Amino acid sequence: MKQFQYQRASTQQSVLDAISKPGTKIIAGGTNLVDHMKHGIIAPDKLIDITHLPLKGITPTKTGIHLGTLALNSVVSEDPLVLQKQPLLSMALKAGASQQLRNMATVGGNMMQRTRCTYFYDTTMPCNKREPGTGCGAMEGYNRMHAIFGASAQCIAVHPSDMCVALAALDASVVVVGKKGQRHIPFTEFHRLPDDHPELDNHLGKDEMIIGVDIPDNNFAKNSYYLKVRDRQSYAFALVSVAAALELSGTTIKKARLAMGGVAHKPWRLFEAEKFMEGKPVAEDTFKQAAQIAMQGAKAYENNAFKLKLAPASIVEALKHAAGIV
Ligand code: SF4
Repeated sequence: MKQFQYQRASTQQSVLDAISKPGTKIIAGGTNLVDHMKHGIIAPDKLIDITHLPLKGITPTKTGIHLGTLALNSVVSEDPLVLQKQPLLSMALKAGASQQLRNMATVGGNMMQRTRCTYFYDTTMPCNKREPGTGCGAMEGYNRMHAIFGASAQCIAVHPSDMCVALAALDASVVVVGKKGQRHIPFTEFHRLPDDHPELDNHLGKDEMIIGVDIPDNNFAKNSYYLKVRDRQSYAFALVSVAAALELSGTTIKKARLAMGGVAHKPWRLFEAEKFMEGKPVAEDTFKQAAQIAMQGAKAYENNAFKLKLAPASIVEALKHAAGIV
């Protein structure tokens, strides 16, 4: 690993000053960034450690909950306010990684983690995300874990987070700060599709840092569920995951929120399927029709065709759990 400078930030401004210089990376829990350094995927000149900034809070706001960017995944998942108001987020966090990793990983770091495509980590293989213009090893290679939605001719990788799938479903927004001040990015627009620039994972500006996430209040707490399908029960990335949230009026669906993980370069929100369910009865048939709508436009590669069946079945299962009809 290349030698690098280390600086502990004492103010937000010192972070913004540091990242304005090329070659500087922010580090918090380091659970993914250090992997990238060890694998030779990145070789920063300097790391600026933000873990001592006062950005760990989980606080009620007038419109919902604010999660500081440094709130630990394990702490958020057990927070009483989160459990009471946004249990879907807690479920998704507990489905991610391992307890040890969740004790280190932060909210902001979870958002900034990069794909686990094996070709991305193998520096002997071509990868447009790691080295633009070199090709995509997965396209003609072993692509069992890869995307069925939103892929491009450049990259078919998926985003690995569980937390982000729940936050996309819950209409959260990312709070970022840069030299021009603070702005909110809707969570569904934070991560990018690969298009012609798979090296870019999100819309965070080069001079910006994430300072938190806002989750608006909703009426989904009673009827939400996170389903993660994976090769083993713990410490594995999703083949397919589903965040499902319903607001019911008796046996009628008043509002629905649905997002999938393990299927696209970003958390994949299913707006059309949500719209279809609103006003419909709580019934397996409603959920099957919603799943069919959700799958429109899906495209498989050589080794991941099973996801075309697994994804709709997972949507139906997650919605049944959310509605309490299992
Ligand atoms: Fe690289 Fe994306 Fe292809 Fe994986 S799918 S090898 S990350 S370009």
